[in-house]
Amino acid sequence: MRKKWFLAAIGLFLLYVFSIYIYLFHGADTSIPDSLNGTSVDPKTFMDDETLENSETYSKIRNFFFFISTPLEWLFLGIVLVSGLSKRLDRWGRDSWKRQFVQTGAYVFWISLLLFVVFLPLSYLRYKISLSYGISTQVFSSWMKDNLIEFWVDYAMTAIVVIVLYWLIRKSPKRWWLFGWLLSIPFTIFVMFIQPVVIDPLYNEFYPLQNKELEEKILTLAAKADIPADHVYEVNMSEKTNSLNAYVTGVGTNSRIVLWDTTLNSLDDDEILFIMAHEMAHYVEKHIYLGIGGYLLLTLAGLWLTDKWMKRSIRKRGELYQLESMQEIASLPLFLLITSILLFAANPITNYVSRVQETRADQYALKMTDNPEAAITSFQKLSESGLSQMNPALLVKLFRNSHPSMLERIQLAKEYEETHGK
Ligand SMILES: [Zn+2]
Repeated sequence: MRKKWFLAAIGLFLLYVFSIYIYLFHGADTSIPDSLNGTSVDPKTFMDDETLENSETYSKIRNFFFFISTPLEWLFLGIVLVSGLSKRLDRWGRDSWKRQFVQTGAYVFWISLLLFVVFLPLSYLRYKISLSYGISTQVFSSWMKDNLIEFWVDYAMTAIVVIVLYWLIRKSPKRWWLFGWLLSIPFTIFVMFIQPVVIDPLYNEFYPLQNKELEEKILTLAAKADIPADHVYEVNMSEKTNSLNAYVTGVGTNSRIVLWDTTLNSLDDDEILFIMAHEMAHYVEKHIYLGIGGYLLLTLAGLWLTDKWMKRSIRKRGELYQLESMQEIASLPLFLLITSILLFAANPITNYVSRVQETRADQYALKMTDNPEAAITSFQKLSESGLSQMNPALLVKLFRNSHPSMLERIQLAKEYEETHGK
């Protein structure tokens, strides 16, 4: 039975990889509509031939990685479960440690380490490709350091969550998901609160915007939007990447608007002001708080579904998984598998909500700066620097894109330009 399972799982995965490859590289049409040829959304008007070709290939490769890495994780977790490895790690923990929370922490450590080691080559490949396309500028030691920091940060978070959840599952096998959810509220808010001041600085160096003249302009814009003035930060990213970015992060007194130094180096003041107005829109419209609210709602539904799905799965296939109940920590791979599937399936919903917010932020920024030309050129520079596709395939848009396509964003700016006679 076990051997049949392995063959079926691996076969199914390979079939999926093949179909995704065909879809992304040969199936989906990602060219821009004929009617838009020669306009400002046409990449031929602002990218040279080589950059344009690179942007198509590089985007396809990245999308391919996106679509195969999560299912590869599912396959791996399934193998850990069915092969009995999970059971063995559990026994190992119980033999060596007396306290249950230490056993759980040790078990989570081994699973995290396994996942890290198995996925490191894939991550390295992604890094090498990014280097060869001139996106990443990071040296190997710095890349590896980021990976190690990420491992320990992820491990610490996962260990806390898993220790608490499995303690709850044992204490209250029926209602653990509800109590777990209630605890996740302060935990999520706490993590979001410390993110900009504790977690992000582990990876990069943050400092107040250095260009004082530009800062003055941004602060004037912020005052217009009623935003407390000390919220613009610069982050040193040019040693890691050539792509451009800006974002809002954190909650409460720790919330920040952050600009990558690459953005500051490549865009002129008007373009930066447009990007800043976009970020301010997220702040003004409280998108972070809406995001937390939506996230908590999804977590509640997700934990409830996980409870039902896990119990049913163990009832039906417990023998194959070598599990008797979900109270055993050996059931963690099944827990991770189910939550990962649910999260992946929720992507179209969360991305849709995000795209609506991003469109609103663009509209706000257009109105506030009243400079659609700067909006258009900044979108063009963003596409060029990140080698992004103007018009991505439908599945990519649904599952991956949290922002409208560059084609849509430029179109929006053009519409503004036309209606306001700019
Ligand atoms: Zn945005």
